[in-house]
Amino acid sequence: MLSRRAFCCALPTASFVAIAIPSVASAATTATDVSDACAAFTSDLQKTVTPESAIDLLKEGHARFAAGAPTKCNMADLVHATEGGQAPFACVIGCIDSRVPVELVFDQQIGDIFTARVAGPVINGDILGSMEFATKVAGAKAIVVLGHSSCGAVKGAVDDVKLGNLTGLLDQIQPAVAATPLTGEKSSKNAPYVDAVASTNVMNSVAALTERSPILKELVDTGALKIVGAMHDVHTGAVTFL
Ligand SMILES: [Zn+2]
Repeated sequence: MLSRRAFCCALPTASFVAIAIPSVASAATTATDVSDACAAFTSDLQKTVTPESAIDLLKEGHARFAAGAPTKCNMADLVHATEGGQAPFACVIGCIDSRVPVELVFDQQIGDIFTARVAGPVINGDILGSMEFATKVAGAKAIVVLGHSSCGAVKGAVDDVKLGNLTGLLDQIQPAVAATPLTGEKSSKNAPYVDAVASTNVMNSVAALTERSPILKELVDTGALKIVGAMHDVHTGAVTFL
């Protein structure tokens, strides 16, 4: 099992003792300690994470969520520990769906991951800029595009809904609708088709990140960044990496 402790071997034992003491004073003196899932992600720790291990950390966190055993951290300690800066190890681009709260699904804490959420999820210029900041500037090592089953945005695209500004957003999912083999009726009532379109849309979004951002492409090409897709099942709570 990969853990933050595995990344850390140089810290003195005393620092592990200090972080176990739930007090403001201990948080102030252990801002760069990395002994467990509640330790703040420091820039030193971030440097030890590879794109592959960043994905593993998310998988490990999801396993805790799926097992019903999320980490219980002292949020006040984490606020103090991260007040001077942030060094998240990964980014997740997820849908706005209330059933797929990113930090909860991956059991991540304050300062651990960048999250961008937009229905679909689709990729637009602001998302690209945010990811360029998160990776090139702030050093995150992986991007996960997280779609989910029974997605309302995907259903809207399948039904070709027209509604205000939503119309333009749903247009960005239409390539996934067109590219997904159809079995049965083309309708939001066709749940397997809706979920297949959602999965296609995730992979389209994964591809768009490097197709539309030379900065992200260079990071991927040089091995500094990994971009993957994943799907969350709203029936089971399980995340499957694509
Ligand atoms: Zn959705």
